[in-house]
Amino acid sequence: MRQYELVERVRAYDPGADEDRLNRAYVYALKAHGSQTRDNGDPYFSHPVEVAGILTELKLDSASICTALLHDVVEDTEGTLAEIERLFGGEIARLVDGVTKLNRIELQSEHTKAAENFRKLVLAMSEDIRVLLVKLADRLHNMRTLHFIKSDERRRRIARETMDIYAPLAERIGLQRFKDELDDLAFAELNPEARDSIRQRMEFLQERGGYLTERIIDRLNRDLSSEGMEAWVSGRIKTPYSVWRKMQKRNVGFEQLADIMAFRVVVKDIGDCYRALGALHGRYPTVPGRFKDYLSTPKPNGYRSLHTGLIGPEQQRIEVQIRTTEMHEYAEYGVAAHWKYKQGAAAGEAGAPGATEGAYQVEGRKFRWIRELLDILEHASNPEEFLEHTKLEMYQDQVFCFTPKGDLIALPRGATPVDFAYAVHSEVGHTCVGARVNGRMMPLRTALQNGDQVEIVTSKAQQPSADWENFVATGKAKAAIRRWVRQEQRDQFATLGREMLERQFRSDGYELTEKGLTGILKKLKQDTVADLYVAVGQGNLTAREVLVSVFPAAREAKPSKIVPLARARRSKRKDGALPLKGLIPGMAVHFAACCHPLPGDRVVGIVTTGKGVTVHTIDCDTLAQFQDQPERWVDLSWSSEAGEEPFTGRLQVVVSNEPGSLGSLTTVIGRHEANISNLKITNRSLDFFEMLIDLEVEDLKHLTHVIAALRATPAISSVERARS
Ligand code: MN
Repeated sequence: MRQYELVERVRAYDPGADEDRLNRAYVYALKAHGSQTRDNGDPYFSHPVEVAGILTELKLDSASICTALLHDVVEDTEGTLAEIERLFGGEIARLVDGVTKLNRIELQSEHTKAAENFRKLVLAMSEDIRVLLVKLADRLHNMRTLHFIKSDERRRRIARETMDIYAPLAERIGLQRFKDELDDLAFAELNPEARDSIRQRMEFLQERGGYLTERIIDRLNRDLSSEGMEAWVSGRIKTPYSVWRKMQKRNVGFEQLADIMAFRVVVKDIGDCYRALGALHGRYPTVPGRFKDYLSTPKPNGYRSLHTGLIGPEQQRIEVQIRTTEMHEYAEYGVAAHWKYKQGAAAGEAGAPGATEGAYQVEGRKFRWIRELLDILEHASNPEEFLEHTKLEMYQDQVFCFTPKGDLIALPRGATPVDFAYAVHSEVGHTCVGARVNGRMMPLRTALQNGDQVEIVTSKAQQPSADWENFVATGKAKAAIRRWVRQEQRDQFATLGREMLERQFRSDGYELTEKGLTGILKKLKQDTVADLYVAVGQGNLTAREVLVSVFPAAREAKPSKIVPLARARRSKRKDGALPLKGLIPGMAVHFAACCHPLPGDRVVGIVTTGKGVTVHTIDCDTLAQFQDQPERWVDLSWSSEAGEEPFTGRLQVVVSNEPGSLGSLTTVIGRHEANISNLKITNRSLDFFEMLIDLEVEDLKHLTHVIAALRATPAISSVERARS
């Protein structure tokens, strides 16, 4: 098709179309595809032009036609989305992007077995119905030229996919014409013998019928006009595939015209539909069980018509479909027709000639798949249909991702690789350390997108982090993490509690025994000794209360001094201090996130009921809140052996936004043997990044060295310890 032909076709139904933009898109795509050729040796550019041509049959707006022209540019040529946006605007760029993304999933998920899931994925990704329409037209043209592909295997795969995915999609949005043709082209590839024999049989029946069809049409026309109705009667031959399906479903052969042909009566309004039905039922005997009223109860995809079976003129069994012009267009073009009517209405309301383009644009922008669904929903009347639609609507809140093998995992929108990992298996979730999304390592808190391929990296040494709970989106992941953390915390509290009791008992000269504790469980309202340890570890019971319960005589002794907790961080120390090695943040002893104390900082502990002890630096602002509760303060100091385990220091860093500056930041940190455990950009301007960096260091001295080195780095404008 030539450039002017295409533009003429669009102008024929949309006089206000942006002709200039169409011409520019045509020329741009022509140049972009250059000397590329298709499998049949034709210039590649013939493909996008034909796709655009198919869409003019649906009378789609010029943005859709431009999208069709440009739909393979990003995938197959040097052209970029940014360039398309610059040249043709945001709307077209967005549509082209949508089609490109659909093509990518198609390439990626050859192994996907579940066609229904794949259909959902395609639907979910076609946020704008026009993306799906362009995609279906693309597929239709590829199917029309399928026979040029040399590889048998590839041809069959494409045909299979068309039948499993694209034809049902076309049907779902009411695009019956596309559905029929897609199915039949796929059928020709997948089962050529069956199709040939059905075609021969159909030809035979038509020949035998001779002028039967014309005579029946003529007779029905006269029947209706004698009732004073304006009607347009036509006959449509079914596709070999639909005949085949019918034979399969009913397990019967076909020998009559009615089996291969349907007659259509198109009238002006709904009243005439029922009048036409009455007229025909009054003249001809009906075939029982064939009458269906899709007019008062439309099909889920919006199709409306009256269907009936008659022993018609010429004593032939015939199938008749009665509908209005509008319903007829919908029956052929589905949502595409629906959409067009909306444009017409909008332009009509605007009232002025030439308002069409504006109306197209406004309506086009508002037009979304979901809106269309809601529209169809209004027409659906029975519960099954309603469910069908809510199912579709549901996909809007889901993302569909793939395992490296191509299995599909459906997740709620906002789900992260951690959710993905738990969806695969809870063991995978518990041990996940990282994720490759579309081949690139990404943070675990990344929100996954439709079509992402996710590979979870696991390590036996990994344990779930309590922090994950803050960003996972699925209940499954949340519950698994919570269960794990609770158990882990319990273990930590129990260890701490037992150590605290041992200390208390020993310093007062008593012996701690399981037997002794068992005797007082009831009194202290604990079920097991382990529960008792946990209660002490969490600070719900004091060690002294327990001591006095077991040995009432101990009541007389004076209370022991405050335990210097952190001095005993190292388990190697045997001087009666608490061996708290292995406590991790969030557990019985943890380091405050407000000031990130390091060995070398002066520190103090605050006892929090149910949480154990929080360690703050002595100058932390948070401490002011506890000014009037001296009983909660714990005197702490660092063990001289501290330093084997890394501590976390938090820095607030401002880096100039220039190439290489982040690189020099990490280089300096690495050279000083510190490790970045977390990094968060808090502010990003044209000139600067502001970020918070958590560094694993040995102690305060180590951190001070790193800070000094960073301050000496030109790309870094400022470094402070973060105090929040
Ligand atoms: Mn294409």
